Amino acid sequence: MLEARDIHKYYSNGKEKLSVLKGVTLKISEGEIAAIVGPSGAGKSTLLHILGGLDKPTTGEVFFEGKSLRHVSESWLCGIRNSSIGFVFQFYHLLPEFSALENVMLPAIISRRPSLERHALEQAARILLAEVGLRHRVTHLPAQLSGGEQQRVALARALINGPKLLLCDEPTGNLDSENGKQICQLLKNLNSEKKATIVIVTHNTEVASLASKIYKIKDGKLE
Ligand code: ADP
Repeated sequence: MLEARDIHKYYSNGKEKLSVLKGVTLKISEGEIAAIVGPSGAGKSTLLHILGGLDKPTTGEVFFEGKSLRHVSESWLCGIRNSSIGFVFQFYHLLPEFSALENVMLPAIISRRPSLERHALEQAARILLAEVGLRHRVTHLPAQLSGGEQQRVALARALINGPKLLLCDEPTGNLDSENGKQICQLLKNLNSEKKATIVIVTHNTEVASLASKIYKIKDGKLE
């Protein structure tokens, strides 16, 4: 489902060249949960962003469902990111002026799914919020929600378009252990019930233990 071949990524700050990824190759199969672990600054987020087409490698190639992301147009990539890939970040990134329900609906509104009328979309968003245990928080604004609740809204938002692939960047990094456990359970259910393929960047050993495959990254390389 997802393959990275010999990924290198350099950043240059003026004269200095910072080499972050130094030849990363990996293959993630459909239905798998994979974790990418490693020390801070090792290149985990950079790799995840490249896998999800949010960033481009300097050299090397990423394939999503067999299609190379190298020479595709930005609009095609936006379409794929919106319809087939869900993202969950450490700091939730909810839009503060919108309710939980509206935040969950946004990716579907952006993708203008013609088959889904506003009413049906709202229903779908309510169902997802109920599934993450937030049936009674739909009209709340992000500022009125706890960190754990905001992350569950972010998870529901990532799922509204029924992605095949879910990419999570430190999804429990800002949560206490109880809320972290809830997120773990939701990811586990998502994988077993909806067969979603999940890639998780994490420091947390409990989160990593969800994975059937753990990639250790150090100094820009997989160990
Ligand atoms: P991790 O997720 O493992 O903590 P990151 O992928 O966020 O690591 O970052 C890896 C390295 O790349 C860090 O040293 C970071 O400072 C650097 N880096 C990340 N993004 C940029 C950027 N846009 N410009 C320059 N350096 C960056």
